[in-house]
Amino acid sequence: NDDQFKKVISHAKEYGYVFQSSEIYDGLSAVYDYAQNGAELKKNIRDYWWKAMVQMHDNIVGIDASIFMHPTTWKASGHVDAFNDPLIDNKDSKKRYRADVLIEDYCAKIEAKIDKEVAKAQKRFGDSFNKEEFISTNPRVVGYYERIQEILSRMGKSLEAEDLADVKALIEELEIACPLSGSREWTEVKQFNLMFGTKIGASAEHALDLYLRPETAQGIFVNFLNVQKTGRMKIPFGIAQTGKAFRNEIVARQFIFRMREFEQMEMQYFIKPGTQMKWFEYWKEARMKWHMSLGMGAENYRFHDHDKLAHYADAATDIEFKFPFGFKELEGIHSRTDFDLKQHEEFSGKKLQYFDHEDNASYTPYVLETSIGLDRMFLAVFSNSLVEEELENNTTRTVLKLPAVLAPVKAAILPLVKKDGLPEVARQIFDDLKWDFNVTYDEKDAVGRRYRRQDANGTPFCITVDHDTLDDQMVTIRHRDTMEQSRVNISDLTAIIKKEVDV
Ligand code: ATP
Repeated sequence: NDDQFKKVISHAKEYGYVFQSSEIYDGLSAVYDYAQNGAELKKNIRDYWWKAMVQMHDNIVGIDASIFMHPTTWKASGHVDAFNDPLIDNKDSKKRYRADVLIEDYCAKIEAKIDKEVAKAQKRFGDSFNKEEFISTNPRVVGYYERIQEILSRMGKSLEAEDLADVKALIEELEIACPLSGSREWTEVKQFNLMFGTKIGASAEHALDLYLRPETAQGIFVNFLNVQKTGRMKIPFGIAQTGKAFRNEIVARQFIFRMREFEQMEMQYFIKPGTQMKWFEYWKEARMKWHMSLGMGAENYRFHDHDKLAHYADAATDIEFKFPFGFKELEGIHSRTDFDLKQHEEFSGKKLQYFDHEDNASYTPYVLETSIGLDRMFLAVFSNSLVEEELENNTTRTVLKLPAVLAPVKAAILPLVKKDGLPEVARQIFDDLKWDFNVTYDEKDAVGRRYRRQDANGTPFCITVDHDTLDDQMVTIRHRDTMEQSRVNISDLTAIIKKEVDV
């Protein structure tokens, strides 16, 4: 809900996770900076993904391709012609909308209206009343639903010029049926390309127009044969990559969920044509398992299979996560056929084929892709972890229950008091642990306040040095989630922490 989402955003700022970009100049819309803790969390998520995808698979290797690519890449990939959002302006309010998002907003409003009617009717008719029946027997509602579905599905496949007038007409009708914007004067719907353009080269006449990559995948496709040959890879094999991508998003209203500069973690799995459904199922399961391994609650994930497919895909599903604003796409799994490699063959004039020794034949491989937004994963982890707990003594505590493996700081070392030689012992523990973990030292304020600060920061362990430590070489270790404390030998600390934070 809205409140929870606001808390997430303010907590992310207060505890040094995410800042608005260029804040002193009032920020830049849909662009964010990761702060001291955020950068660590983001790196840990990236490493967790990389380890699962690259290190754990002897047939998957990682690359790091450039953000700039030859401009023909984007002709071949279809992004120059078809990477568009349909936009519409309201002449009265001078506001600009993404047509599909606007239609979805109308749908949500109509749904809410229907729910109200249903509730009323249910009161009147009791349990025998049925929502589906009500909708399907109400001709006006049915009419809207059918047209909306049809138009949204055409949008998913990228709209033709003649569709755009239809979209405008639908928006005009919906505005009358269910006012949202309050004004009725609309411009035509225009296609707006989402790629950022830039130039390379110093002199105007020799400058080359380039795009900032809108996805990392193409860097993998154009390197497919280089990697296959130099790595002597045998099909099936994968190439993984993490890196920045850029999209000139119009509707940017959900914090780091939809950014103009973001990071993707993608893996393209090259397979034999005809085996794509097997691998589609395989990667659906493997990726869901990866998510489950973080222990953030199975009920917060679901698959959303696509019935409308992009031009390059023959099967696609999203892994959706329950964000504070509802279930939304977190990761996409796409069976991309040989579309990309074939396009690059055509535009480059080079063969991108694989010689299969078993079949004694060459073919252009099919591709199964897994693609997850690092920033979206960050938001999923962060928003899911932030909880307010009622404690027994009628107080509350704010705790960021990050999976220990992802937490920016694994342990805080706290001398009980700032004297009697305790800081020196605590410093020594800090200096020993820092070789293995990102740890912090804190001696300011009462120890209870320091515990709360570390709870809110997501630190899984607090290690307290007290006067007894000087005699028995033991410290108190406190667990963030249970608040349980136990006394352990200093020499056992590394093993205890490792057990929780290593995968
Ligand atoms: P959406 O429908 O939300 O715009 P998409 O279907 O265009 O996403 P893909 O092109 O499949 O997304 O990109 C793969 C992943 O990259 C998405 O699942 C998402 O996690 C991430 N992603 C895409 N666009 C953005 C963005 N603007 N900001 C942050 N992450 C993004």
